[in-house]
Amino acid sequence: MLKDFMRKKLREQGSRVTAQREAILKIFEEYGDHLGADDVYNLLLKRKKPISKSTVYRTLELLTGIGILRKLEFNGGVYRYELSEPSSNHHHAVCTRCGKIIDLKFEEVSELFKKAEKMGFFVNNYSIILYGLCPSCQENEMKSITEKMDNDESR
Ligand SMILES: [Zn+2]
Ligand SMILES: [Zn+2]
Repeated sequence: MLKDFMRKKLREQGSRVTAQREAILKIFEEYGDHLGADDVYNLLLKRKKPISKSTVYRTLELLTGIGILRKLEFNGGVYRYELSEPSSNHHHAVCTRCGKIIDLKFEEVSELFKKAEKMGFFVNNYSIILYGLCPSCQENEMKSITEKMDNDESR
């Protein structure tokens, strides 16, 4: 069963709930956020749901267009998708080393909107991404720095 908000959106847009669309949305329900087109394709193959890559791309675009998925662009033009349930608005912190993505719930951004609107700017989309290092990459970074220092000293 698809979540109500998905069915509603598909119906509103006059889009049919085809088996392929349903299969793709189920992947998002189960595996959660931030899946790339290749991830979705591979997960569908694993479940013995034959589908072409171009159908996956097209379906992801369609579902984004009608507001069921949100398309996120991270480092270097890599696109990932997540369910855009109204209650799940969040921002992202991305590790620039391993690519790990962390969700950040943060509501204060509405202040920023108000500011933009005061200046007569109409906001219809936004994206806030924090870049940095995740805890385990920080640890590795520290390790490699201390190793390097040890090597330099023993020279
Ligand atoms: Zn990392
Ligand atoms: Zn997210």
